[in-house]
Amino acid sequence: MKITQIRNATIVVEVDAYRILVDPMLAPKNALPPLKLLGSRLRNPIVDLPIEASPVLETVTHCLITHCQKGHFDHLDRAAKHWLRSKKIPVICTPHDADHLRQLGLNVCPLPDQHHEPQPFLGGLIRTIPCVHGRGLVGLLMEHGVGYFIQMPGAPSLYLSGDTILTPDVRDFLTCHQPDFSVVPAGGARFDFGQDIIMGISEVVAFTLGAIARSVDSILPPPPVMRGSHIGYEYLMMGQP
Ligand SMILES: [Zn+2]
Repeated sequence: MKITQIRNATIVVEVDAYRILVDPMLAPKNALPPLKLLGSRLRNPIVDLPIEASPVLETVTHCLITHCQKGHFDHLDRAAKHWLRSKKIPVICTPHDADHLRQLGLNVCPLPDQHHEPQPFLGGLIRTIPCVHGRGLVGLLMEHGVGYFIQMPGAPSLYLSGDTILTPDVRDFLTCHQPDFSVVPAGGARFDFGQDIIMGISEVVAFTLGAIARSVDSILPPPPVMRGSHIGYEYLMMGQP
């Protein structure tokens, strides 16, 4: 298994013959509006796609969406919609997003209603874990998507947490399933008001302790942590050695 971060939430997971593009945002630098009304009001994306993105994108066979409605363009923007349509890439999503994505003309392959339980996925299994994309008033206004747990034969298990704070569901998932690798949006992004909409430092520490519990149990060294740049927050990739 190989995971390539393209930019922001956009990654490509290589496993077997498949190349799974997750949450594509493909717009050029500054093509999209700022996410804050106050302060520096930087337009998004704040950096261009890396030149290495093109050959990686050319290999993509499937797309996976964690959430995309209510203006979350950093998980599916206009450039990505156009690209997915032109390539007729199968877009895997929850039933909640299926009609929305169909109306965009995408080649939608929704998971069954029981997606919180393991479902067939490219020769392996996939299931969802609910996200909570902020609490309080901000939480009421947000789109709460899903994370994905992917288990492929002969490959490490992979948890893509999606945009979420650390919830009892996420903690329970870690306890029960102990993924081999996790990709976690982190850094405690906020809007102009309200609390974190993704995990902040203390929650990432708690998540990491949960994720490495098996390493500690089996007296293995803790997993490596890799860091990727992002609009206003960072992605941490953790895995068992
Ligand atoms: Zn989001």
